[in-house]
Amino acid sequence: GGRSEAEPPLVGHARRQRQHPVLRPGREPPLRHPLQRRGAELRGSLQRPAGACVSARGSVPQVWEGRWRVIPYDVLPDWLKDNDYLLHGHRPPMPSFRACFKSIFRIHTETGNIWTHLLGFVLFLCLGILTMLRPNMYFMAPLQEKVVFGMFFLGAVLCLSFSWLFHTVYCHSEKVSRTFSKLDYSGIALLIMGSFVPWLYYSFYCSPQPRLIYLSIVCVLGISAIIVAQWDRFATPKHRQTRAGVFLGLGLSGVVPTMHFTIAEGFVKATTVGQMGWFFLMAVMYITGAGLYAARIPERFFPGKFDIWFQSHQIFHVLVVAAAFVHFYGVSNLQEFRYGLEGGCTDDSLL
Ligand SMILES: [Zn+2]
Repeated sequence: GGRSEAEPPLVGHARRQRQHPVLRPGREPPLRHPLQRRGAELRGSLQRPAGACVSARGSVPQVWEGRWRVIPYDVLPDWLKDNDYLLHGHRPPMPSFRACFKSIFRIHTETGNIWTHLLGFVLFLCLGILTMLRPNMYFMAPLQEKVVFGMFFLGAVLCLSFSWLFHTVYCHSEKVSRTFSKLDYSGIALLIMGSFVPWLYYSFYCSPQPRLIYLSIVCVLGISAIIVAQWDRFATPKHRQTRAGVFLGLGLSGVVPTMHFTIAEGFVKATTVGQMGWFFLMAVMYITGAGLYAARIPERFFPGKFDIWFQSHQIFHVLVVAAAFVHFYGVSNLQEFRYGLEGGCTDDSLL
């Protein structure tokens, strides 16, 4: 639109800062610490279009009416600096939830991240409601099975909603972004834990003891991942690989029950009634997503070319939704098989 050309990137913010005498050019105290110096550079870049700044100052309350422009990576404050391969299109810091939520409908580096998980959230909310409303005659043990599916949907819905919320309010302030990033990471652990529940329930239907052991182990590992995610430094760019590793490890803990199942039931039965093909596809998508996330592919090869669309984080988001959907499909087939058998456990079968 033609509107943005005449506007400074940050009307409200610049205004607020200009009230502060320290921020006026020429009045700055000598800068000793590199952090201070970087802050000064940022202020300078925000003040540059001051000529266009509206003169209203002083007692006028700060109103955010979407009057901001995207800014380049180098002028972001440290707490918003996450991926230096995304050169431009970042939202400026906007300490207003209203402004953050309005930015859902604007184009910037987080637009794709927000919408992929917002739509995923709606998808799994609908699937969850449909599953809960399915007539009880389609289940062997309706209450138990709905609780088991409910755990999966709870994990998926929490993960996806924490995620789109985090990406929405990420630019609010350091404190808010830190709080929501912890929720975001905890959500991933909840999704993985929730995914294990129906899979273990149906795959080890006739062997409750290993089922309980595997469920307990994944709960302990998942809670450990959530505890690790509360560590402040966990969210920093330096620990990108650590994060990918923690959630990859949590997901790959499923290799043990998979081996158990395949050895006990045989490869043929594992891939047919055990739905291992679908779970393998789910794992491949999940691992690919974690790999792209950790390595920041494709933007690392073409910095600045994936600022808005197809950056690694968006691809990772899409793969998470797709993997969760494939998992749901596999688990639904397991449920159907159990129903077809009319619940009966045969002599030496796990399933
Ligand atoms: Zn995300």
